[in-house]
Amino acid sequence: MMTEPLLIIGAAILGLFAGAFVNARIMRTKDSMAFTTNRACAVCATPLKHKEMLPVVGYLAVKGRCKRCTAVIPWQYPATEAVIAVLFALFAARILFHFELPVFVGPGDEILLFVRDALTTLVLIMVFMFDYRASVIPDRVTIPGMVIVIICNILLGMPVADLLLGGLVLGGFFAAQFLISRGRWVGGGDVRMGMLMGFLLGPILGIVALFISYVSGSIIGVMLLTSGKRKIDSHVPFGTFLALATVICMFFGDHLLNWYLGLFS
Ligand SMILES: [Zn+2]
Repeated sequence: MMTEPLLIIGAAILGLFAGAFVNARIMRTKDSMAFTTNRACAVCATPLKHKEMLPVVGYLAVKGRCKRCTAVIPWQYPATEAVIAVLFALFAARILFHFELPVFVGPGDEILLFVRDALTTLVLIMVFMFDYRASVIPDRVTIPGMVIVIICNILLGMPVADLLLGGLVLGGFFAAQFLISRGRWVGGGDVRMGMLMGFLLGPILGIVALFISYVSGSIIGVMLLTSGKRKIDSHVPFGTFLALATVICMFFGDHLLNWYLGLFS
């Protein structure tokens, strides 16, 4: 059938517009914590034309600069839109070709699974960007994310014990650190992010995702230290690594786990 490529392209286009929405919500603002719809240049406040609000194309059409004040538009705008488009396309392809789907997903669940994966992608991208830009994992992103994930996973047939245990183990992992360090090592946002990951992935893949976060976070942290770009006491935006590892585990969690366990057998 020729419908698969069309559906994948459709998912990518949907992702581009979802990315433009994310940019309007969190990027195109002077205050990196603002969360309002902004359809104007962040520097001179000139309202954007419809053409300029088009994802990626709008950025290319104005050659990456505001027409009025010539302020450079950060490359992160089109990059965010492109990354979301690629992830939407990959999630659609994964479902269409039945690649590594969660074991509890049955026939007829395809659309619901795509809805879950697409909305989760937006939540994770927002966590990634908020933590990278403002060193905060906001509850107004993770709490709606948890609600979406819990509803979708229950409707998809994930065993409720896995769902609850996932949230408990990963949330508990960060809650314990929060209590021991009196909030110095991790913040409350990390606890909520851990719960979100656990509800999404369940306890086993959730732990795999934690493991990937810590390994990749350490490697990149050491690279930044040795290159002199960061000081030893500067904040590491760990939420960015958690978000990245969660996406990786949504695709390859079982593969990575089997490979890792195979090392010891
Ligand atoms: Zn401007």
